Amino acid sequence: MLLIFGNPIDHSKSPLMHNYFLKKMGINECYGRFLLQDGSKIIEKFKELKINGANVTIPHKEWAYKLADEVRGIATKIGAVNTLVREGEKVIGYNTDAPGFLEAIKEFEYKKPLIIGAGGTAKALSVVLPNAHILNRSPKRLEFFKSKTKVFTWDSINEFNYDLIINTTSAGLNDENLPAPEDILEKLFKNAKYAVDVIYGKETAFLKMAKKFNLKTKSGLDMLVYQGILAMELFLKKKIDKEKAAKIYFEILKD
Ligand code: NDP
Repeated sequence: MLLIFGNPIDHSKSPLMHNYFLKKMGINECYGRFLLQDGSKIIEKFKELKINGANVTIPHKEWAYKLADEVRGIATKIGAVNTLVREGEKVIGYNTDAPGFLEAIKEFEYKKPLIIGAGGTAKALSVVLPNAHILNRSPKRLEFFKSKTKVFTWDSINEFNYDLIINTTSAGLNDENLPAPEDILEKLFKNAKYAVDVIYGKETAFLKMAKKFNLKTKSGLDMLVYQGILAMELFLKKKIDKEKAAKIYFEILKD
């Protein structure tokens, strides 16, 4: 048994997409969802339920990082775990969000990325895109990035020559807001080649605007799929043909 821990968890597409994949591949495993109120109980719950693996979503990724018996790979740098795997009596933590994002944009040729937003997703992406600069609405969350890279608020941005613009904010998730003022985005889009949003399930105002500037765009659906495939490799403890698997996941998930 596999499942996803989160709060809220109703909206998660993970059970749908993973069960479809498991069925298509004839793998004898199933994937559920678990509404976990108290993140500090995550590993206890994992062991009590005797599951083989789990994904972790908002707001428990930091708890999973802190409490896993061992944390491996890029998760040690990110400080957040989105995948837990049973290994004997131990529960091992990994992060597939950031490598999933990289896998999702692997055909893009970019040199200078700009990340908009400074929350959890921005932190994860900044580990795999160490040369990315950060633009955020307000200064507080930028503190974390200051010693590592260049950071800007809407008021201080004075560089606009990026080729890849990534929206990691929640602006546009439940509204038509842009993640930064239109005049800033206009200057950025004029020079850029690609725009990527981590939001999925809709075309955001950010991506709509990027298309008007003829940028190549990608929604968060690709990131969702590839973080899922990388997690599935860890659950099944074997390599998966990613392109073949992605085709199956995209059959059931549509933006
Ligand atoms: P956080 O709450 O950690 O960070 C939110 C960020 O968004 C902050 O930088 C905040 O700025 C900014 N923000 C919020 N509202 C606005 C606004 N109206 N205008 C401009 N900036 C705004 O969020 P997460 O990093 O956890 O998640 C962000 C998004 O990523 C969510 O939409 C989530 O669904 C998506 N996601 C997608 C994944 C996928 O697989 N595709 C995986 C993980 C997340 P400030 O500091 O000024 O408040």
